[in-house]
Amino acid sequence: MSEFDPDAFEHDYRGTDPDEIQRSINNRLVYTIGKDPYTAVDHDWLNALSYVVRDRLIERWMETHRSYYRSGTKRIYYLSLEFLVGRSLNNALLNIGFRDSCEEALKRLGLDLEEILGMEHDAALGNGGLGRLAACILDSIATLDLPGTGYGIRYEYGMFRQALEENQQVELPESWLKAGNPWEFPRPEVVYKIHFGGRVMEYQDKKGRRHHDWIDAEEVLAMAYDTPIPGYHTETVNNLRLWSARASHDFDLACFNRGNYLKAVEEKAYSENLSKVLYPDDRASANQELRLRQQYFFVSASLQDILRRFLQQYESLRQIPEHITIQLNDTHPSIAIPELMRILLDKYKLEWQQAWKITQKTFNYTNHTLLPEALESWPVELMERLLPRHMQIIFEINRRFLLTVTHLYPNDMELLKRLSIIDEEGARRVRMANLAVIGSRRVNGVSQLHTDLLRQQTFADFHRLDPERIVNITNGITPRRWLNEANHNLSGLLRNVIGHDWVKDLSQLERLRAYANDSEFQQRFMLAKRANKARLADLTMLHLGSTIDPYTLFDVQVKRIHEYKRQLLNVLRVITLYNRICDGIAPDLVPRTILLGGKAAPGYLMAKLIIRLINDVAAVINNDPKSAPQLKMLFIPNYDVSTACDIIPAADLSQQISTAGMEASGTGNMKLALNGALTMGTLDGANIEIREQVGEENFFCFGLTADEIARKRQNGYDPRLHHEQDAELKRALDMIDQGYFSPTNPNRYKAILRSLIDDGDHFMVLADYRAYIQSDERANALYRDKAAWARAAILNTAAMGSFSCDRTVNDYARLVWGAVPIPHRKSRRIGRKSNHRGE
Ligand SMILES: *Cc1c(COP(=O)(O)O)cnc(C)c1O
Repeated sequence: MSEFDPDAFEHDYRGTDPDEIQRSINNRLVYTIGKDPYTAVDHDWLNALSYVVRDRLIERWMETHRSYYRSGTKRIYYLSLEFLVGRSLNNALLNIGFRDSCEEALKRLGLDLEEILGMEHDAALGNGGLGRLAACILDSIATLDLPGTGYGIRYEYGMFRQALEENQQVELPESWLKAGNPWEFPRPEVVYKIHFGGRVMEYQDKKGRRHHDWIDAEEVLAMAYDTPIPGYHTETVNNLRLWSARASHDFDLACFNRGNYLKAVEEKAYSENLSKVLYPDDRASANQELRLRQQYFFVSASLQDILRRFLQQYESLRQIPEHITIQLNDTHPSIAIPELMRILLDKYKLEWQQAWKITQKTFNYTNHTLLPEALESWPVELMERLLPRHMQIIFEINRRFLLTVTHLYPNDMELLKRLSIIDEEGARRVRMANLAVIGSRRVNGVSQLHTDLLRQQTFADFHRLDPERIVNITNGITPRRWLNEANHNLSGLLRNVIGHDWVKDLSQLERLRAYANDSEFQQRFMLAKRANKARLADLTMLHLGSTIDPYTLFDVQVKRIHEYKRQLLNVLRVITLYNRICDGIAPDLVPRTILLGGKAAPGYLMAKLIIRLINDVAAVINNDPKSAPQLKMLFIPNYDVSTACDIIPAADLSQQISTAGMEASGTGNMKLALNGALTMGTLDGANIEIREQVGEENFFCFGLTADEIARKRQNGYDPRLHHEQDAELKRALDMIDQGYFSPTNPNRYKAILRSLIDDGDHFMVLADYRAYIQSDERANALYRDKAAWARAAILNTAAMGSFSCDRTVNDYARLVWGAVPIPHRKSRRIGRKSNHRGE
């Protein structure tokens, strides 16, 4: 065992010599983890290695913040209730070019890097697309040397772990922090007071000006935890600051002295509940008081932190919009708008107009959904009780806003009703989307179609008032995680053929077009795909005990389970394929492996029933000797970032089949196409832009358009006609209805049948069924022509350049933030003098 080496940290940032790394790992194991190599278990080695890698980020991290401070640059703050980061170690290794040396060092210790990497817990502080977008955006901000910080909540329990019991989803708590989290730095000195409840006191100053004070409120503390976010092959390391709730007094002495020890401890536990758990529903507005508390908690702490940093450097609050831009990821953090107003008015005694000018120039809002049930609103009564001063301010924002509207459009009461922040129908509610639009300089949709629909429908009245405000910024994904890291086989091949600049400049993939017809390259491309499929087959064998055959077509739908995403349409297709095989009328069908995965919100019963149906159908098909050689269906449990990284590189076909007009963008669609899967998709969200880029002939497009869906709705859509007139569809539906897949309980799926046939089929599954089957036939035919398929797959990867999140973030920087990159030179010395007091 090695002696403690006081110079170990010096060595750490000097070289990539495996001997030095090995010594550092040993040092960390002994002096940080407190184990020796003989008693260390694998997880200890994971943590030791993580600390060694983290050490290499710290100097860069500090230097990054020093150079932001020195340059006086405009700062970007990304506020999000979710960050679906996944694992960090491999990402950090690749970003700082440290992976190969670490692999070698571990080998000398008798350890396998891949195995160690696989032990890291996912940081699953998000539900799905929205949270993953936040993580991709942080990665790109750092890679582009932009001065950005993420703010969110350090949930003790992130997204639940999904397991299957008797084919049904069960939710298990995921305590991702249990084995320790080497990536975070607790900052016990960075603590802010957060208030709830109480009342508002009005008073006059000596000059007779009226002011307000929020008093008698309960108090909770927010404590910071920092996670470094390294950019790829750059010195920039940005920060993700997450807040954890603490009780304001460990022991309320008064209570304690009165002998009320338990009450004191109970109150402590109650306060700390705030950051206990992520709400596991990605669509419906939660409407729970605790959720609103979480929102205000992290917004208030973040704004206090942002203003503290600002005032360290600048004096006039009027300069805020010049030096700060705040992006609101959906309406979840939109209480920040009245919160900044409150601080400027009540604490700094600014006049309303000045405060409003500052506020409105500082915030920007990203909308993620058009679904009415997902547009957040809070009862006025709740807001008044929890945040009485904010409610007053919201009323005043609304009053002034509606006044200006009245001047522009006199006597239009209906218009005022639609634009009002307050929904006056029934019990009054605060519409957070209206608040976010009114309080922001820019509002963006996340794909061209989504933005068009925002302008034409959801925010049409706002758009008329200010045609400049709503802009489009199509989502993107980071090529670091979703190709370079997830798909070694393909990224290795790309490196050989076009170099590796694409990792930072994804438009370089265009150069693959030249090889699309090259039969040798086609073979190598498809060999990489085959290797990925074999790897996934090994994993499903290992973890699920299921065999899948890498020589079949891998047909993949992985995403949250939701009726609008139409996993049911996929199931109807699979049943149809099964019937055709059993009838002996599918001789040309290429052998398929149908993979599905995704979590259902615990309270979303229909989604859970869909998971059960998928598994019930799979059980019948997989056990039928007639269909087994041609068809296998598997539900992969616990879809998260790490399973996504295993599944996506292995996909041949990507199912993106939402009802047109309902998927704001999608990002799973981009990940799959980037990895060489062909999309079978509706004209929805970013599918439309993907199709434009890859070319119609390399995309299996089907189904009603958003316009056609809307028209059909207006003209009275009747799913029963499809049920009666399409014999194959009727047969599939009747099999479900009559218990073919649930012989022990033929009634199990009545609710699904009712929804599809009797209750109007809101998501138009039956209307798109036939077109979907036909598009499946086209895919089947193309797959039979190996060269043609390979060519199309290559052209998919080649055309995905503009779906890099680097492009997305550049769009934000240019159209919304007005921020510029701050590249900085290497300067890594501990203890360098600096005139600022840290972060
Ligand atoms: C990308 C991603 C999503 C979003 O997928 P969509 O198909 O766009 O809905 C959800 N969950 C995870 C784990 C992801 O990586």
